[in-house]
Amino acid sequence: MRLQGKVCFITGAGSGMGRVAAIRFAREGARVAAVDVDGPAAEETARLADGAPGEVLPIRCDVTKEAEVAAAIRTTVDRFGRLDVLYNNAGVMLEQDRSVIDTEEAVWDKTLAVNVKGIFFCCKYGIPEMLKNGRGSIINIASFVALLGCSVPQDAYTASKGAVISLTKSLAVQFAPRGVRANAICPGPIETPLLTEWLLRDEEARRVRLSRNPTGRFGRPEDIVNMAVFLASDESEWTNGAVIVIDGGITSNYF
Ligand code: NAD
Repeated sequence: MRLQGKVCFITGAGSGMGRVAAIRFAREGARVAAVDVDGPAAEETARLADGAPGEVLPIRCDVTKEAEVAAAIRTTVDRFGRLDVLYNNAGVMLEQDRSVIDTEEAVWDKTLAVNVKGIFFCCKYGIPEMLKNGRGSIINIASFVALLGCSVPQDAYTASKGAVISLTKSLAVQFAPRGVRANAICPGPIETPLLTEWLLRDEEARRVRLSRNPTGRFGRPEDIVNMAVFLASDESEWTNGAVIVIDGGITSNYF
C-alpha cells in the first residue's frame, strides 16, 4: 500500500475524480477527509470506500467559506491527528461561462471563488498543519485549458486554472524548504459529471473534442488519480513545482 498511514484532505470528493481519489487513497491505506459542499455525496463516497484498509471521513464544507474550511481542517486533524496531503480538487465549470464579452459577473465570481479562493482557504489552514510535521504534499488540480487558447472559450474557468498553476509554483518555492511540496496536475477532458452533465451531451461538441485527441478517447478519472497517488506518496519526494499535463497528448497536437 503506497499511502499507508497518510492523512489526506481531498476536496470535491463527492463526485468525479475526487470521489475516485478518496476511494483509491483509502485502498492504498490512507485516512481520508472526503470534503464536499454536497454532504450526502461525500457520505456516499465514504460508503463506497467501505472495506478499504484505510478510512474515509465525509465532511460537508463549502470551500469558498473561510470558516467552513477552517472547521473542516480542524475536524480532520482532531480525528486523524495530523495532515500529510492537501488535495485541492474541488472545481466548477459553469455552462454560462463563455467569452469575456458575454459572461456575467456572477459566473466569473463563482468560478474564481470555487476554483481559486477555495484553494487559498484550504492552503491557509492546511499548510500550517503540514508544517508542524515538517513534511507534506499539496496537489492542486488545474486544467490543460490553462495552457492553450480555445476558440470555444470558457474564460472564467481558463483564468481560474491559470491562477492555480501560478499559485502552485509560489507554494512550491515557499514551503519546500520546510518540507511541504506543491505540484499541479493539468487534466485533459475527463468523463466526469463536470463534462458529461452538459458539454458532452452535444454530439458535435463531443466529436470536435475527440478529433483533437491523439488517443481517440476521453480521459478516465483513474488516469489522473494514478498520478495523484504518486504525488501523495513518498515516491515523489523530490517532485516539486511541477505542472504535470495528463491529456492524452492534446496539448502536443498541432494538427
Ligand atoms: P465533478 O463536477 O464531477 O466534481 C466536482 C466536485 O466538487 C463535486 O462533488 C462538487 O459538489 C464539488 N464542489 C463544487 N463546488 C464546491 C465547493 N464550493 N466546495 C466544496 N466542494 C465543491 O468534477 P471533476 O471533473 O471530477 O473535477 C474535479 C477537478 O478537476 C475540478 O477542479 C475540475 O475543474 C478539474 N478538471 C476537470 C476536467 C474534466 O474534464 N472533468 C478537466 C480538467 C480539470
